[in-house]
Formats: sequence, structure tokens, C-alpha cells
Amino acid sequence: MTARPPVRSVTVVGGGLAGFTTARELRAGGYDGALRIVDPQGTPYDRPPLSKAVLLGRSSGEDIRLAPPGWYEENAVEVLTDRVAKLSPSSGGVLLASGGELSSDAVVLATGGAARPLTIPGGDHPAVRVLRELADAEELRARLEPGSRLVVIGAGLIGAEVASSATQLGASVTLVDPVPVPLVPAVGPELAEVLHAMHAQRGVRVVQGRPSRITAYGPAVLVEVPQDGAAPLSLPADVVLSATGITVDTSLAEAAGLAVREAVITGLDGRTSNPAVYAAGDSARRRGADGSLLRRSEHWESALLDGTAVARSLLGLPAQERQPGWFWSDRYGVHAEAAGAMSAPGSTVLRAVDGAPRLAFRLSPEGRLLGCAGIDSSKAVRAARRLIARGARVRAEDLRDPAVDLKKLGRE
Ligand SMILES: Cc1cc2nc3c(=O)[nH]c(=O)nc-3n(C[C@H](O)[C@H](O)[C@H](O)COP(=O)(O)OP(=O)(O)OC[C@H]3O[C@@H](n4cnc5c(N)ncnc54)[C@H](O)[C@@H]3O)c2cc1C
Repeated sequence: MTARPPVRSVTVVGGGLAGFTTARELRAGGYDGALRIVDPQGTPYDRPPLSKAVLLGRSSGEDIRLAPPGWYEENAVEVLTDRVAKLSPSSGGVLLASGGELSSDAVVLATGGAARPLTIPGGDHPAVRVLRELADAEELRARLEPGSRLVVIGAGLIGAEVASSATQLGASVTLVDPVPVPLVPAVGPELAEVLHAMHAQRGVRVVQGRPSRITAYGPAVLVEVPQDGAAPLSLPADVVLSATGITVDTSLAEAAGLAVREAVITGLDGRTSNPAVYAAGDSARRRGADGSLLRRSEHWESALLDGTAVARSLLGLPAQERQPGWFWSDRYGVHAEAAGAMSAPGSTVLRAVDGAPRLAFRLSPEGRLLGCAGIDSSKAVRAARRLIARGARVRAEDLRDPAVDLKKLGRE
């Protein structure tokens, strides 16, 4: 096998967590070639605070920067505020929306996701907002004040966090979702129920249904939600947040001939079907060691680890093993987390505190731990995650017993 010539210039397309981490880890690993990040939003910032501290007015755009402004100069990382319109992998070229062209030895695609648009009639009314970027959070924040009426469509992770933040701001919140209890696949039905019940406990009106249209109503709107066997509900709103998930724009990759299935396909090292192009973060999807396509992740830690993997690959270092996937979410002052696969075939064991489920564990029919979700239980989820990674066999009664320290389990 001939050695690959060393990479002397890298263009990172997208300055979210995955793209920024690639650049940071390249420099941390001693890469001293040219390095640039292209993003229409300019200097990289972190997204999880957008639905939490930024919406609550506790953090500003400056507070959520992934690195202080001086870092880029100190580390010779050029940030271009522009959009990449086309890739030409054969020549290492990248065409900018502003018209310029860049060339480099390697391109890293880290373009993330965009909030899924609301495609019902009236979904394009100016009162209907999404939340993916800092500007979205700032606009939403400006519209939320005591007494303002917010309808949140979609009670997944982001919709739930916004409902929580808006309630704290004094807004009157209605949360609409077609399923009776969202997030079951992510945390299991028992914890999902505990988490969902918090909305009503904090004064949020919870409506089950799928909005069918939005109509103007003076400066406000009415969100119409059909109801089984009853007249549709008509929910007045000063602002509507559409939080129905993200879409991944794969058009750049497809036009460049890269292998794509819902996202840009990569190996464990982040390399796409073209050896000069890498992909990372929400817009990438890895193949496992056995060649099977893994599920695309839309979580913070995965974007971080993808960026690290791409940097290691560019530095010529071997891929690192990863722990099972993990995410967190905060609402109403509680911290929810999950690791591994909570919807894998098997059975669920609960650990309760004061009669309420606090941890849920997913066990395979052979008694191996597959997934764990917890509320305000970070240490336990961390310990469970290690057990999941090891494929450890655990006894249901130990998982159930709050007196048993999970760190001591699985030592066969
Ligand atoms: C409001 C909110 C709250 C969240 N909270 C949590 C949480 O609590 N826990 C958790 O685990 N995860 C959370 N996440 C998810 C997490 O933030 C994402 O998984 C992570 O940001 C993905 O990083 P990324 O770099 O892949 O993509 P992104 O962060 O989406 O960054 C992609 C970047 O690419 C740029 N771009 C797109 N197209 C182009 C182009 N053609 N040319 C140049 N640049 C381009 C975009 O402008 C963007 O800046 C949250 C996300 C949001 C939006």
C-alpha cells in the first residue's frame, strides 16, 4: 500500500460543533498546514444553550462561542463568513456562494441540519418560527414576554425545552404533539411519561393532535388542530414554534457524487466515499466496523466525537473506540439523560426514588444491559453507559435496588 501524501490544507464546511472540533483537534494534534472554516454564520457557537440559557436571557451570543475570538488568530484558523455552493472533490475545490473558489487537499463536510419547515397551509406565516440558529433564539426571545401566547408544535427534546423556558419567562404555553407521550423511543415509556407530565404540572396546556393549518387572526394567528370525533381546536398564538425535527441537506454531497443515504455516509474514520472528503456531525452517518449503516445521531456529543475522529484520521491516527451514544436534555430544572438503546428488543427494569421512576434500564433477553435513561442521575447513567459498552450481564434486582452502586456491577 502506498502512503497517502500528507495533507497540507484543509477546508471545513460548516462551523458548528463538528466542524469546529475538527479544526481544534487538528491543531491540538500538531497539524500545521492551512486550515479554514467556512460558515455563513461566521464564528462557531454552541447550540444546546439556544433553547435554554439564551432563550431565558441568561447567556448571550458571546457566552456561547466555542472559542474566544483570539483563538482563531492564535491557532491560524481562518473563518470565512460565506456559504459553500459546490464541491469539486477531484480538484479539491470548493465554490463559495459569494463567487470565490478555494482549493485544499481535504474537505470536511460538517453542515449539520436545518429545522424542518412546517408544510401545512399558513406554516409560512411570520409568526411561525423555528429554532436552530442564534438569530432564531434571539428572535424568539424578543417575542416572549409575560402573557404572550406561544404554541409549540412538537414535544420532542427542543419543543419541550422551549416550553419550559417560555413558561419561566411568563408566557402562556400550549404544547401540541400527535403522540400521547413523546420521547418513548429515546428514554422508554416510563420516564417519557414522567417527563411529559411535567408540562401540565408547570401550567402548560398539552394538546394531542397534528395541526392542520394556521390562519392570520389580527396580528396573531390561530393554530387549528383536528380532534378525533370532536370539533377542531383553534389555538390563538402570538408566536408559534415549529419544533418537528431537522432535515439534512445532502445536495452538496450528492452533486459531488458522494455516497449518501439520508446523510453523508462515512467510515468510522469520518472518510466519505471520496478519499479527499470527510464528513462529521448531524449531517453524517457512519458505517460500523461490520459495514452496516449506523443510525444518524442528532446529539451534541456525537458531533464532538465525529469531529475528533475526522481530525485523527487527517493526522494519520487510528480511529478510537466509542462508547454507546448519549444525550442530555434539561426542562423545568431537571436534567434527563439517556445512553445506548432504550428501544432495543428486551425488557425494562425501573429504579424508583420516592415512588417515582428515576432510572430505566433496557436489558436484552440474555440479561445484558443495552440502554439506560435517567432523571437527575448523571453518575448512574455514566456507570450504566460503561456497562453497556462492555456488554455486561447484570441482574434485574440489582438494577432495581437504589442501594446498589452501578459502578460495582458487571464485574464477572
Ligand atoms: C436548540 C437546540 C438545542 C439542543 N440541545 C441539545 C441538548 O441539550 N443535548 C444534546 O445532546 N444535543 C442538543 N442539540 C443538538 C446539538 O446541538 C447538535 O447535535 C450539534 O449542534 C450538531 O453539530 P453539527 O456541527 O453537526 O451541526 P450544526 O451545529 O447544525 O452546525 C452546522 C453548521 O454548518 C453551517 N452550514 C450549513 N450549510 C453550509 C454550507 N453550504 N456552507 C457552509 N456552512 C454551512 C451552518 O450554518 C451551521 O453553522 C441541540 C440543538 C439545538 C438546535
